[in-house]
Amino acid sequence: MFLGENVSYASLRVGEILRERYNWTCLRDIIEWVADNAPILKCVGCSLPLSAAGWVLRWYPHPDGLKLEDFDEPMWVYVECAKCGYGNALWKLIRQVEAER
Ligand SMILES: [Zn+2]
Repeated sequence: MFLGENVSYASLRVGEILRERYNWTCLRDIIEWVADNAPILKCVGCSLPLSAAGWVLRWYPHPDGLKLEDFDEPMWVYVECAKCGYGNALWKLIRQVEAER
């Protein structure tokens, strides 16, 4: 199982899983991933594809976040929808891509 809904976010050590699976080492990697997948990623708030809604990558310090070269501490990175303002957690977006496979 990968990033299931019922499993506590912290217990999965999501940051490590994401880094291992997607090999993201810096914000630029994440931005490129979101940009590449934006047509199939749907905002959890308004259901629009992120490519249509527009999006901004945001982050803040969080112990379960991603360890990236850009920062000294782990960062919680999420994708804010420009249409409705919803903050889409990366793991929810990743699950959408995984489901497409
Ligand atoms: Zn939205």
